[in-house]
Formats: sequence, structure tokens, C-alpha cells
Amino acid sequence: MSIKGLEVINIINKIADVISENKLYLTELDAAIGDGDHGLNMSKGFEAVREKLVDDNGENLGNTFKKIGMTLVSTVGGASGPLYGTAFMKAAPVLNNKSEMDLDDFINVLKASLDGIKMRGKAVAGEKTMIDSIEPALNSLIESKEKGLSIIDCLDNAQKAAYEGVEKTKEIKATKGRSSYLGDRSLGHQDAGATSSYLILKTIYEYIKG
Ligand code: ADP
Ligand code: MG
Ligand code: MG
Repeated sequence: MSIKGLEVINIINKIADVISENKLYLTELDAAIGDGDHGLNMSKGFEAVREKLVDDNGENLGNTFKKIGMTLVSTVGGASGPLYGTAFMKAAPVLNNKSEMDLDDFINVLKASLDGIKMRGKAVAGEKTMIDSIEPALNSLIESKEKGLSIIDCLDNAQKAAYEGVEKTKEIKATKGRSSYLGDRSLGHQDAGATSSYLILKTIYEYIKG
């Protein structure tokens, strides 16, 4: 099963919808241990992405991802803009000259994205960041694929793994980003960036499930 370029664009627009719908939620999570702008940052970024993609039919997804990454970096202030922006820009070469993507492409995209985030933010799993939902999702995808599961089951497991990762951030003391300034007081709170990453993965799953 492969997802056509135009459908990838539809998924990105759906992600923009979901991020906007969850703007307040993401902001509240960030307000507890950060500066309360994650929802605003993400919705501003993805609304700019939506506008940037109006004329894009997805015939070269490498270009699409590059545009998305650059838009996020240039419109989103704060840590999440450069991090998500880098994720899309690092994934772009994987999709160069491709007008559709299959499960292997998606795994490679997620891997390149995660590597980009780690490189840019110098964080690893267990520091209470977006990495704590993305890395378990990637590992789950690889495992599901090896088991020969359908793309829908692979994505279902991945978004569930991401959700578990989000839940676990409550037990982690932040050592990167603004919440690290709080030290032990960051304990008990869910990370906003891990939550936005989970919402993105969940949206992809739900779109493909139909
Ligand atoms: P800011 O903290 O600058 O206000 P946001 O609120 O938009 O930016 O994003 C905060 C989120 O960014 C955090 O919840 C965390 O998931 C993520 N984050 C912060 N620093 C890092 C980092 N070094 N590596 C990965 N993710 C990070
Ligand atoms: Mg913030
Ligand atoms: Mg901020």
C-alpha cells in the first residue's frame, strides 16, 4: 500500500486542523512547566504550512517536505519550530522525486526526522521531550513491519506506542528545554512537545484508516 502525494498533502492539512483544535490543550500543558505557547507556536506554524501548500500537488514530496520544514523554522518562534522544521527538512531527501510513499518510506522519514531532532536539540530519549513519543513510535513501526503487519496495524501500534511515551513523560524530570529550569517540579506533568508529536502520529493513522 502506498499513499499518493496529494493524499500526503491532505494528511498535512489534517494535521494543521488537529493542531489548531488542540491549541488550548497544548498551551495548557506547556503553561504548567514552560511558557504556555506550544499550542500557539504549533498552530501558527501549521497554518503557515497550509498556506504554503495550496499550490502543491505532491508530485515531488521531497520539495514538499523541504517547504514544510523551512516554513516551520521561519514562522515558529521557540524551541519547537526549529526542531519540527529540522525534522521535515531532514526527511526531505528520503522523499526526493517521489510522488507517493509506502511504509518503508514512512519508516525512513520518521528515522531521518528523529535523527534531525536529536542532532538539533542535542537530546536523547528520557529527557521529557518530543523524542519520548517519536522514538517509541519509530521502534514500534520497525517491529510491526518485521512481523509483517498491515500498514494500518503498524500505524495503530505506533500511535499507541507514542501515547504510552507521552504518559511516561509525566514520570520524567526534564533535562532539556524550558521545563528543565524547574528541575524536580517538572515531575508529574506531561510534556507538550511529546503530546504534539503523538497527535501528529495519531492523525496520520486515523487518516489512513479512513
Ligand atoms: P519553547 O519551549 O521555546 O517555548 P515550545 O513551547 O513551542 O517552545 O516547545 C516546547 C517543547 O519542545 C517541549 O515540550 C519539548 O517537547 C520540546 N523540546 C524542547 N527542547 C528540546 C530539545 N532540546 N530536544 C527535543 N525537544 C525539545
Ligand atoms: Mg513554550
Ligand atoms: Mg516559548
